Amino acid sequence: MTIAAHDLAVIFDMDGVLTDTTALHCRSWCEAAARRGWRFEPADYDAMRGLAREESLRVFLDVVGRHMTGAERAGLAQPALQQAVIEEKQRLFLEYTDALTAADRLAGVTALVDGLRARGVPLAVGSSSRNAELVLRRIGLRDAFAVVVDGNDVPISKPAPAIFLECARRLGAPAERCIVIEDAASGIEAARAAQMKCVGVGPADRLAGATLVVSSLALLSVDSLFALLDSPRGA
Ligand SMILES: [Mg+2]
Repeated sequence: MTIAAHDLAVIFDMDGVLTDTTALHCRSWCEAAARRGWRFEPADYDAMRGLAREESLRVFLDVVGRHMTGAERAGLAQPALQQAVIEEKQRLFLEYTDALTAADRLAGVTALVDGLRARGVPLAVGSSSRNAELVLRRIGLRDAFAVVVDGNDVPISKPAPAIFLECARRLGAPAERCIVIEDAASGIEAARAAQMKCVGVGPADRLAGATLVVSSLALLSVDSLFALLDSPRGA
């Protein structure tokens, strides 16, 4: 598949952009901690936003370790224990995702995706998640995307540009014709490293590096994406 030089391609992050699986990840980590009598609270999840599994585990162990004695904390280094924690978190997450439906798409997603498809814009999902295919199927959006690249395809997670570059490669789109839509600072950094323009969805202070920031996808039109593509970088 290739696109013409004047064309636009859009690469969506998934978690926090298309659906709020961040809430399910957060709940899974909190519950995984609670089951061991450890402390990990929803506010602690902020530092994990946009991170892949291994980095998330590192943040998790760092947080729960803060409330432990030195000996308990040393025990967190055991690979078998870390593996058990990751597996439990993943089990909980899959349990929670079972309940996802099209109603769990975030505000504005359906209209924007439909609008882009109607204009023939090739679409990709570039996610550090290893559950992207599953989640996209649950919310009824898998078929909307020509390309889905996730943490299984590219194990080098954001803020490295590898996931977005692979999306562009598979779409047949040069980086300068791609716009990334992201909710996390690490994803904005990845888009910039890939030399792509980037729309940040969420609070401006978290998304300072984005080319454009909107508080919700409902405020982003297809036309504004075309306009952004042709605007000077950073404008
Ligand atoms: Mg995200």
